[in-house]
Order: sequence, then C-alpha cells, then structure tokens
Amino acid sequence: MANIGLYIELKDGAFKKSNRELLSLAAKGGHNVHAVVFCQEAQPFMEELRGVGTVIQVKGADLSYQPDRYARALAAVILEFKLDVFCGICSAQGKDLFPRLAARTGAGLVNDCLAVDLENRRAVKPVYSGKLLAEYQVDGDKALFTIRPNVIAVEAAANSGAPVLKTVAMDSGDLGTHIVEVMRSGSQKIDLTEAEIIVSGGRAMKSKENFTLLAELADVLNAGLGASRAAVDAGFATSDMQVGQTGKVVNPKLYIACGISGAIQHFVGMKTSKVIVAINKDPEASIFKKADYGIVDDLFAVVPLLKDEFKRTLG
Ligand SMILES: Cc1cc2nc3c(=O)[nH]c(=O)nc-3n(C[C@H](O)[C@H](O)[C@H](O)COP(=O)(O)OP(=O)(O)OC[C@H]3O[C@@H](n4cnc5c(N)ncnc54)[C@H](O)[C@@H]3O)c2cc1C
Repeated sequence: MANIGLYIELKDGAFKKSNRELLSLAAKGGHNVHAVVFCQEAQPFMEELRGVGTVIQVKGADLSYQPDRYARALAAVILEFKLDVFCGICSAQGKDLFPRLAARTGAGLVNDCLAVDLENRRAVKPVYSGKLLAEYQVDGDKALFTIRPNVIAVEAAANSGAPVLKTVAMDSGDLGTHIVEVMRSGSQKIDLTEAEIIVSGGRAMKSKENFTLLAELADVLNAGLGASRAAVDAGFATSDMQVGQTGKVVNPKLYIACGISGAIQHFVGMKTSKVIVAINKDPEASIFKKADYGIVDDLFAVVPLLKDEFKRTLG
C-alpha cells in the first residue's frame, strides 16, 4: 500500500472533470489517498472527493495560479505527508507545474501517461508523436505522473467514507516573480483536452464567421470547438482551439474534422480519438485514411444537415 497524492485541479474555482479519472485510478489497490486542493473553502469539493482518505486544503491570501508558488507548496505537502507517488492531470497547468515539482523534490516524472501502475511506479506514454508507446519505470523513492484526460474509466468510489480534512498554509514568501496580468482567451466553453466530442474546422472554413456553423453543431452535441493550424493562422479560429503537434493533444470519444486535410501535424493531436469522422470534398484527402467514417462532400452542405439531424435525434 502506497501513500498516493493527487493534485486536484480547479478551473475558475470549479472542479475539473478529469480529476475524477485521477480519483478512480488511485482508488484501485487500497492505497492511502491524499487529495490536494488549493482553495479557501474545501467543503464544496468534499462530495467529489468522497472515497479518499485525506483532503489537504492549501490555503493562502492569494491562490491565483503561480507555478513556482504552487510547486513550492506542493513540494512541502509531498514531504510533510510522505507521499510516495503524486499524480495530476496532463493539462496545460499540469505540464507547467509537474516538472517544477520534479526539480524541487528530486522525484522522477513521467508526463502524459496513458496508463499508470501506482504500486510499481510504472507508466505507459506515447513517444515520437504517438508513433510508439514506451513503458517507463520510475526509480528512487518518489514518483510523479501526469495523466492524459479521457484515458481512465471513471468509476464510483468503493469507499464512501468522508475524508479527513487537513489544512496547510501556503508559504507567501517572495519568489522573485509575480503575476502582473492574466489574459483569458475566453473563446472556449468546453476545455478541448477534456471534451468527449470535438467539432473541428480547417482552412476550408474560409472565414471566422463560417466557424459559427461549426459552433452551432458543437452546441447541439455539447462538443468542444477545435481547428487546424491553417485555420488559426488565417485568423478564422483562436490559438486555444488549435489541435495538433503545436496545439493541443485531444482524446475525445468523437472527433468530427470538417475541411481538414489530415496533415501529420494535425493528426498527432487527435489520433487517439475513439471515433474520427471526416468531411472533405476531396476523396483523396489523407484524413480519409485515418477516419472511421468519411463523408465526401461540401462541408457547407453537410454540416447544417448533421446539425438538424442531431438536433432531431437528440431532442
Ligand atoms: C512544425 C509544424 C507544426 C505544425 N503544427 C500543426 C498543428 O499543431 N496543428 C495543425 O493542424 N497543423 C499543424 N501544422 C500544419 C500542417 O502541416 C497543415 O498545414 C495543416 O494542418 C493544414 O490545415 P488544413 O487541413 O486545415 O488545411 P489544408 O491542408 O489546406 O486542407 C484543407 C482541406 O479542406 C478540404 N476542403 C476545401 N473546401 C472544402 C469544402 N467546402 N468542404 C469540404 N472540404 C473542403 C480540402 O480538400 C483540403 O483537404 C504544422 C506544420 C509544421 C511544419
């Protein structure tokens, strides 16, 4: 039985859906699980965290995300609570935070894991743009893992007991840096990396206004809205929507690619989607070699039909 720590990520103060995957992973194997959450009031999260042994609430005058401050606080928690293994979501924040945490604690880190064996500190992760899967073994007395969203089946906690709540104070000592301003792109209603369905558009969308067509379909499906780099570079979509090698890596159940050719740099960002649907008017487009379902037609004719049909079927 290991002492497992989980970094519970909040977005604008709300519990992120992918935390449930971390909780489900840690619940297996009878480990002593500690959930660490940075908040002034942990009570709203206690229901979600039911099943863990201890909730560690990190409190401070200013809890706005500052990577060095968070890493310093988490490193202290790892030492104080003698956590052997510490996991987080492979989100933008996780990717920013965990390497700093590794540097501070001297622990081995495996980022972007698709599977983790907490007991034996082993993890499987994609390498070379997802062409291979590599298995990593972390040596030493501490291990850190970040886990890709949408890879672990969420299960209800077997232990329904209420966790013990402990509070630690965040060290507010000077770090030599401070946040001047946080700029939000604000274009996404649904976090692409956590989305179960994504509707994505490419250069063929021709304009920013035409992306409304995809946004309407996305609304009906409760989907996130993605884009190729060509669409972003052309100013049709914002950079937080970019999927691919230099954008986001997504892992939805359904990815609908509209007017996207299927370049390798796009594909590596969405290849683990469970089902890929491509709409492209060129039957030779390489996306069709990768898609599970293909529609050879003009997207401006197909997308409105799909939207109406899904609306009718889904009520
Ligand atoms: C280092 C590097 C990193 C990169 N990183 C990324 C990345 O992260 N993400 C990314 O996406 N790209 C990335 N790229 C760019 C990538 O190589 C492609 O250029 C880009 O993905 C192409 O975008 P696209 O498919 O929208 O455009 P295109 O390749 O121009 O394809 C448009 C497609 O739309 C189809 N089409 C046109 N009109 C219609 C219509 N009316 N109805 C239906 N279909 C239509 C066409 O047949 C065509 O297949 C990167 C490139 C490099 C060099």
